[in-house]
Amino acid sequence: MFARLAAFLLLTTWAFAAAPAGVPRELAQERAAEISNLRYQISFALAPHAATTAGHEELSFTLKAAQAVLLDYRDGTVQRMTVNGSEVAPTPDNGHLHLPADKLRAGANTLTFDFTSAIAPAGKPITGYEDKDDGSEYIYTLFVPMDASMAFPCFDQPDLKGRFQLEITAPEDWTIISNTEPRGAESAGGNRRRTAFAETRPISTYLFAFAAGPFRKLESPGVLDLPGLYVRKSKWERAQSEAPEVQQITKRGIAYLSTYFAQPFPFPKYDMVLIPGFPYGGMEHAGATFLREESVLFRTAPTHNDLLGRDLLVLHELTHQWFGDLTTMRWFDDLWLKEGFAQYMAYQALDALKPSEHIWMRFYESIKPAAYEIDSTQGTTPIYQDIPNLKDAKSAYGAIVYSKAPGVLKQLAYVLGPEHFRDGLRLYLKEHLYGNAEWGDLVRAFERVSGQKLDHWADMWIRHRGMPQLDVSWSCTEGQVSRLSLSQHDVLGEGNLWPIATQVLLSYGNAGPGIRFRASFVTATANFSQAVGKPCPQFVFANDQDYAYGRFLLDASSRVEVVRQLGDVHDVFLRALLWGSLWESVRVAEMEPRRFAGLAELLLPGERDELLLRSTAAHTLTALHRYVSPGTRGQFVPSFEKMANDHMLHSTQKDLRILWFRTLRAVAETAIGRGYLKDLLSGKLSVPGVELRQLDRWNLVTALLALNDSQADGFFHAEQQRDRTGDGLKYAYIAAAARPDSKTKQQYFVDYLHDPSRPEDWIAESLDAFNYWNQSQLTGPYLKPALQALPQIKRERKIFFLVDWLDAFIGGQQSAASQAQVHDFLRTADLDRDLRLKILQAVDELDRTVKIRQKFPQ
Ligand SMILES: [Zn+2]
Repeated sequence: MFARLAAFLLLTTWAFAAAPAGVPRELAQERAAEISNLRYQISFALAPHAATTAGHEELSFTLKAAQAVLLDYRDGTVQRMTVNGSEVAPTPDNGHLHLPADKLRAGANTLTFDFTSAIAPAGKPITGYEDKDDGSEYIYTLFVPMDASMAFPCFDQPDLKGRFQLEITAPEDWTIISNTEPRGAESAGGNRRRTAFAETRPISTYLFAFAAGPFRKLESPGVLDLPGLYVRKSKWERAQSEAPEVQQITKRGIAYLSTYFAQPFPFPKYDMVLIPGFPYGGMEHAGATFLREESVLFRTAPTHNDLLGRDLLVLHELTHQWFGDLTTMRWFDDLWLKEGFAQYMAYQALDALKPSEHIWMRFYESIKPAAYEIDSTQGTTPIYQDIPNLKDAKSAYGAIVYSKAPGVLKQLAYVLGPEHFRDGLRLYLKEHLYGNAEWGDLVRAFERVSGQKLDHWADMWIRHRGMPQLDVSWSCTEGQVSRLSLSQHDVLGEGNLWPIATQVLLSYGNAGPGIRFRASFVTATANFSQAVGKPCPQFVFANDQDYAYGRFLLDASSRVEVVRQLGDVHDVFLRALLWGSLWESVRVAEMEPRRFAGLAELLLPGERDELLLRSTAAHTLTALHRYVSPGTRGQFVPSFEKMANDHMLHSTQKDLRILWFRTLRAVAETAIGRGYLKDLLSGKLSVPGVELRQLDRWNLVTALLALNDSQADGFFHAEQQRDRTGDGLKYAYIAAAARPDSKTKQQYFVDYLHDPSRPEDWIAESLDAFNYWNQSQLTGPYLKPALQALPQIKRERKIFFLVDWLDAFIGGQQSAASQAQVHDFLRTADLDRDLRLKILQAVDELDRTVKIRQKFPQ
């Protein structure tokens, strides 16, 4: 620790001065001001199935003035440590090592360490994965946001970038992938080999990584300049046929982004490594992105949109190479900056690379709902989140960062116009090459290129939480619009007003082309003279093309008209926006859920757009499983089962057949519906032209178990016999979590909290089966224990797990009694602010469910 804190420590003497937990912002700022020129030379010795790795490190850096310094290292042990040549007894202290002032000097300093760090299947940043298909072992690192300091001693903060030279000793048949190319390999004796990597460019500790094991590289004979793609050897043949598209889209993405950012690819090479059971979709290590294997090699029969989703994942991680890796946030309070842009740019790049794919509609369907769902709750946060200590950076991850931030950036691109938006990004990157920057730097870059003042815009959208609801009001006289106004109010009732720019549509249905105009305002209400005198429309929609961010409900007369003619709206993007607006009306208890289900029953059979069919079917299932009474559900389910089965068999589009198959599995409930599922498993029924994959089959088994079908156990055991792969073990674990008996639930719950050997992805993926929609009686008793376990979950699990946990356990309940239980817990439990907000986010859906059921008891 430095300057002010160091002085304090010296006064109190080392023996009693406790180092702070984590990396507080003050410590980071002081270190960043004093330390520069960092170089890490690190070697690890890896062995299959070992619980630890021995490491050696030489760390050099320049110090402005001789002073005591705190280095970060936790969880492991240091056997030997030298500071500028003299041996110093390591003094582990709350996740740090003290470097005494009398051994350090102004100018260059060199430290060495011999240390031992842990490797484990879960809960450690060096993860070991055993491939149950062939018994081979894989080891990979995942340090974000501040876990590099669990693997080796370092200054674990994003704005102390270092140059890394890695050396790894491992079995000679292993392949090692890291941020740079190997510069040499030699025998280390005993069938072991030492691989040394070229020095990296300056990168943050969280972007340093390696993966090791019998990975194989995809071969692409005759194709030049493709980025490397590595996969474990048991999946190599499959990847060979399914994954080359990933390399192609990456290559095209590199060309597009280099031009768009006016910066060449910033690192010496680019590889992607498919990691089984990886806890995120991907992680953008500089020059070596790790991707979740299941996100590339699909476990269920993929649809066209699944493949586009894979493109977006690949482009998201690729964008980070510039936005995040080349220019890095100074601190994790600007996490949204890199995630928001990676998300937004992935869509923009794909829109440029595949212009006929309705990419912005996909953005609306995939990105916006998650943002609105959180942002309309009392648990929401501003996009900018104060992170006083990096140990709390995990809390910043979530839909606000991944969904609201890109949604707001789409609004900003509309405000600035595409050229100024692009030029601002170019300027920002150019001024911070291989360095760090903050949101304010980007705002200033946008202001400089556009000449527009953005401080109010940035303040309201980035620093204030919540969102506006936009209501449109209009009237006609003698066939012409006489008045049109937009008004906004803060969904959370906190009195905020946002600067809004949107495109308003006056629609004449099929009677003629619509009239569109731009509407910008910052006040509570504004009149728009652009509309006055135009022919009286059939309906008005105030967020055409989805440029704006907020809740856009239809006015009463427009809603009547939209419900009447929705099936005839040919523009698929507009159709999606109108369906989305109706669904919002259901969620705010303005439209009866059974009316929504009735509209879906009428229109879904004719819907040809895969994405729109998927979202509307999902909303309908939510309405049936949560919002309507069992009696009403019983009226709808048989017709949806039959509809799904018919279209699964007879739709002319393969993607739609797959989607109807998934819908059938989700909606099936009656004996007839379950019969379809069993026929699919036994082979009496098949989806034409589609080969069901193993996870498709397991999902059917899960549904049968959850629905307590009398033959479910037989199908479960047959599937276990059939699928003897490593994945099969996991899927059986997930399926069995859906068994509707109290003993099963109890066993699983104990397992979730107390079995350290259970891989985290098994647990995460079984939470929804455990909390199946029809099992609230059985899972209700676990609601409170699940809430009580939150501090442990937060401490032990990876970033997204906690939200999945909360959504599953609270989402499994629908009753007012459960709602009261959660709110009672919020009132009485001693919780940190972050956990309180996360619970408030998750309970919002339960609050809505109870409200909707009370208002529409049918
Ligand atoms: Zn990202």
